[in-house]
Amino acid sequence: MINLILFGPPGSGKGTQAAKLVEQYELVHISTGDLFRYEMGNDTPLGKLAKSYIEKGELVPDSVTIGMLKNKVDANPDANGFIFDGFPRTVAQAEALDELLEEKGTAVSGLLSLDVSDEEITQRILLRGKTSGRADDNDEKIIRNRIEVYKNETTPVFDYYAKAGKAQKIDGMGSIEEIFGRLCAAIDAL
Ligand code: ADP
Repeated sequence: MINLILFGPPGSGKGTQAAKLVEQYELVHISTGDLFRYEMGNDTPLGKLAKSYIEKGELVPDSVTIGMLKNKVDANPDANGFIFDGFPRTVAQAEALDELLEEKGTAVSGLLSLDVSDEEITQRILLRGKTSGRADDNDEKIIRNRIEVYKNETTPVFDYYAKAGKAQKIDGMGSIEEIFGRLCAAIDAL
């Protein structure tokens, strides 16, 4: 099994690259952001709860996010492996993921972090906001908060996996194909 964490700040291209990687490696793509948006779209209790955090650019509480992620992993018992996109975003989530995979006799193979400058991600998110219909993509104040939260709460996840020798940075600037090529090279080397 190969279990990849696609990591990086909001707007760094995780979703775009994950879609290409799933095809190439036949893995199951789990995006916690997509799962929350699905719940919000259906106005479920989970969706309503998630919305109250997402619209402020805050993280949804760990207990909620971890529970949702576990359900999704459990729903795919025959997977060759997973691409986790937007998860883990806190060290507590990383610990929970390691525990979950260990129970299944597997582990995180590697974390690939897309390296993109703050100016570039803000521009990319604002551009995406014109068509994504995402309220959290249309307000510079919310975007700035998401970047702040990423720096404070999420970058420690990189260090957590770096200590285990599993984290690496990938240049996230350039064309979609160039970045995809860099990711594939890193995955093939794992
Ligand atoms: P981005 O494009 O900013 O990377 P995502 O689509 O991955 O955003 O997620 C959108 C929002 O959903 C996040 O800003 C956050 O509020 C919430 N969210 C997504 N994944 C998680 C997570 N693992 N833990 C907590 N909140 C999350």
